[in-house]
Amino acid sequence: MARQNSRVASIEDIDLSGRRVFIRVDFNCPLDEGRVADDTRIQRALPTIEYARKAGAKVILASHLGRPKGRAVPELSMVPVGERLAELLQTEVIVPDEPVGDASKKLVQNLRDGQVLLLENLRFHPGERKNDDGFARSLAALCDVYINDAFGTAHRAHASVEALPRLMRDKAAGFLMHKEITALTELKTDPARPFVAVLGGAKVSDKIGVINHLITKVDRLVIGGAMAYTFWAAAGVSLGRSLVEEDKIDLARRIALKAEARNVELLLPNDHVVVEDINEKAAHEVASNEGFPASGIAVDIGPRSILRFRRAIEDAKTVFWNGPMGIFEMDAFAEGTNQIANAIAHAQCHSVVGGGDSVAALKKTGLTPFITHVSTGGGASLAMIEGKDMPGIESLLSTIGANL
Ligand code: ADP
Ligand code: MG
Repeated sequence: MARQNSRVASIEDIDLSGRRVFIRVDFNCPLDEGRVADDTRIQRALPTIEYARKAGAKVILASHLGRPKGRAVPELSMVPVGERLAELLQTEVIVPDEPVGDASKKLVQNLRDGQVLLLENLRFHPGERKNDDGFARSLAALCDVYINDAFGTAHRAHASVEALPRLMRDKAAGFLMHKEITALTELKTDPARPFVAVLGGAKVSDKIGVINHLITKVDRLVIGGAMAYTFWAAAGVSLGRSLVEEDKIDLARRIALKAEARNVELLLPNDHVVVEDINEKAAHEVASNEGFPASGIAVDIGPRSILRFRRAIEDAKTVFWNGPMGIFEMDAFAEGTNQIANAIAHAQCHSVVGGGDSVAALKKTGLTPFITHVSTGGGASLAMIEGKDMPGIESLLSTIGANL
């Protein structure tokens, strides 16, 4: 995986002037009644798009949107995305009727330097998800240069992120993609120490791969969220009716043993915010492991655990955080998560936060600017940490392409 670091070219390494530049972006935005409801993903791609325009490229953007299952679904058309993009760029954005085909080809041929075209939803074509070579070739026929700025799909072998760049000689990562690769690779290769991982969320099963990888890298592993209760169950501690994955208890035990064998400090919450039933207005109290009420459900880490966790993070030089400490969607149970965000923001460290819910929780605190890198790709960032294959990155490295 170290190869993924320096050898991925950046958009700045390639001559774009007067060339047809295909940029794979992640414009998979939530829509509401035919309008883009949240344009965060479009905003994030703007630096790469603006750069390409200024460099004199004929810009061809492409993305998937939702799950149209290989056929044209009007509600999942890129048209509203194109409209929003046009507003942001303050320029015309051309959207052809189909991702590939004579009409698209013609529109691309007529593009002038600096003009922007957004291909129709790539998943309207069945070849996209199948990583189909024929579909990739029709996309390759549209362009001279390939740029990938869609980190969120880098763990998937789809035609526009895998087969297509393999066909291209001139290819590179856009600014967003390059930042993701650099920040995550730093965690994997030579992290400054102490390196602390903070993991939470609902399920151990979602995070096994990540834990197994991180345990070989970190000095401390802080575990919160519902996941912690399966670890307590493995240690023979029962916490009332708190969420436990019975079939993962053994696994949690093995992870704890592995931590011990490697001298990794494993921190679990030993006091908890407890309710009788889960709703925002439920009366809640704090209970420690001893004296945990038999009918209670733990929904957040308690104040003593917050202090212990904060202390474990304070002197870190590298922090990776994924997974909230409690049911943060309810303000009453968000304190643990907020405090952890605060501790990470205050530590003088290289900090990386990944995961859809963790990033949402972080945003709510307003502390995002104090984090070194907030990963945009939930699944992709975890896959990269786990050491899984990253087809969207590997294909940027291959040198067999010759702009066929
Ligand atoms: P991410 O999206 O950052 O990877 P996850 O999806 O793994 O995070 O976990 C987030 C979910 O975990 C949230 O919906 C949160 O409510 C839930 N969660 C955290 N702590 C608890 C708990 N004690 N009991 C039940 N659910 C919890
Ligand atoms: Mg999630």
